[in-house]
Amino acid sequence: MSANMSANPYVMSAGELVASRWRIAKLVPRAGTGLVALLVAVNLVLGLLPVLFVIATSVVLGRVPAAVQGGLDSAAWDSLVAVFVVAAVAFVAQQIIAPLQASLGELAARRIDGQMVERLMEASLRTPGIGPLEDQGALEDLRVAARELEFGVQSPGQACAGLVALIGRYTQLAGYAVVVGVAFSWLASAGLVVAVLLFRYGQRGGLRKYARVRFALTSAERKGDYLRTLAIQPLAGKEIRVFGLAGWMRETLRNAYFDWLRPMWAERRRVYLWPFVWFGTWALVATAAVFGLVGSTDTLTLTTFILVMQASLGSLRLAEYYPESDLQTAIGMEAYDAVQRFTVRIDDRIDDRLDDRIDEAEEVRTAVTVPEPAHTIQFDRVTFRYPGQRRAVFEDLDLTIPVGRCTAIVGLNGAGKTTLVKLLARLYEPTSGAVRLDGVDISTYPIEAWRAKLGVIFQEFARYEAPAADNIGFGAVAYLDDRAGIRAAAEGVGLTATLERLPLGIDTPLARHLTDGADLSGGQWQRVALARALFALRHGSSIVVLDEPTASLDVRAEARFFDDFAGLTQGATTLLISHRFSTVRQADFIVVLEHGRIIEQGSHEELLALDGRYATLFHLQADRFADGTDADETDIDEEVPA
Ligand code: ADP
Repeated sequence: MSANMSANPYVMSAGELVASRWRIAKLVPRAGTGLVALLVAVNLVLGLLPVLFVIATSVVLGRVPAAVQGGLDSAAWDSLVAVFVVAAVAFVAQQIIAPLQASLGELAARRIDGQMVERLMEASLRTPGIGPLEDQGALEDLRVAARELEFGVQSPGQACAGLVALIGRYTQLAGYAVVVGVAFSWLASAGLVVAVLLFRYGQRGGLRKYARVRFALTSAERKGDYLRTLAIQPLAGKEIRVFGLAGWMRETLRNAYFDWLRPMWAERRRVYLWPFVWFGTWALVATAAVFGLVGSTDTLTLTTFILVMQASLGSLRLAEYYPESDLQTAIGMEAYDAVQRFTVRIDDRIDDRLDDRIDEAEEVRTAVTVPEPAHTIQFDRVTFRYPGQRRAVFEDLDLTIPVGRCTAIVGLNGAGKTTLVKLLARLYEPTSGAVRLDGVDISTYPIEAWRAKLGVIFQEFARYEAPAADNIGFGAVAYLDDRAGIRAAAEGVGLTATLERLPLGIDTPLARHLTDGADLSGGQWQRVALARALFALRHGSSIVVLDEPTASLDVRAEARFFDDFAGLTQGATTLLISHRFSTVRQADFIVVLEHGRIIEQGSHEELLALDGRYATLFHLQADRFADGTDADETDIDEEVPA
């Protein structure tokens, strides 16, 4: 039989089964020794109680004839009552302990999952760079892990609780087997155990296969998820109604759903049906043999007969699906694997970076503090390629940014402006070359010390669902209690009146769904982000970068904004990034970036005199905006003639 079993392609090998259970078992101790010991004890008791109940009730039934004959005052009646009490206690205890098993299991699962969540958080925040969070593979692992851990239904913790719960089930099976063996026949006992295990093996293997199929169909499932979410989001909701997309949405969603469901149905049949038939047949044969044996034995007493029948039926009931264990142990570890994969990716990245640092440390001394910038920030022959990309964004880029001045970097979309900022903030490290502060490679400074010198507001700046004051204070989180500084920053960007009107003033949480919360308009959020930069500047940042947080403003507003900002930050090193050529004329120094190369640089006047790319685009945009025909000509594309 075993040769046939391993030839069956749908069933996990016994080795695989043991290995997978062992992996879960290794996680169990994370729930804490005391809790695990208690959980094991509860499961053991819960496994033994039904066996005790079966024995006691069988004895009760066996003693009924003598008790009836002896009457109410007889010793036979008393002994019947005594055993009945034992049966009743066994029954009631089961009812009381079962919920305890569930709650202790839940507690253990939460503890383990909690640690997984912490590990995931720690790993995703540990990389100094942003690379892993822009890497599709890593993001997918993060998504799978986070989803299972969030719902906590088929999570690693639930797999552990499920595994421990198996102790209860198998103790019960062992108990029945002993009862049948002692009271009747060890052959029959072995037959029952084999039948139960075969049933379980077939079903459990199918479950695991099914889990794999489901994970293989994740991308089809995601498409459906996306469409479903889209259909109920206010953002798309407007367009769906205005453009009459509802019918199209319904149809696409339906198709996406069936694209996912049909292969799943087919696989499910393949995975469950034949193993079920195969193992079920053998289990039936074994069961029939056992009952045949019982039926053909005429030496059994009433008690023994009832006992053997009850124990046999009790063990066959254990051939069922275990809702407290099976799916959890089959699927729960997928999230754990995703956590592991994600962590390994992060570790790899960190190692790469460290290797680079070690190479460079030989050339340059490693300092622990970052000195105040004095002269220049310099991109020194910087080449940079995004991980996994063949095309370099920059090749041997040389760029010098003067300290204490306002520099603007302009260029069309895709020119490499944001990438430049990411390198400056060390969200990525250059593939070769170095970014230097007054000649010293910034990668030789501890990354936190370097970033403390830097305040960057990105185009897609974060909108924290936290009090307005914190949203500003996050620019220098160590100084969150500097209320006067936060107010001054808000004042600097003209937000004071807006914030005062909010329900809790500056302490209002900036999210409408929070108690006393409020939301801000896009422009007001922009000002909050800018106040964050000003606050950073106040507390030790010496370089402030605005990476197009103003892109959604119209061109005049952006120009005004940059003017104000330059006024507020006079004397600081500021970097304004824009794809508009007409808003940065106030900058001391303007760099024109195109396809990752610097094609022109100088002051506004110098660049106009040069009459090159900057001059052309500046005039094109400025003329339109002077005409008043188009106050917002934001998107000039690559087709614009040079
Ligand atoms: P800009 O800020 O000037 O619009 P970016 O720096 O965002 O330009 O992009 C420069 C180039 O790098 C573009 O070709 C863009 O497609 C590519 N790029 C940007 N981010 C990534 C990324 N995370 N992975 C791969 N390529 C990227």
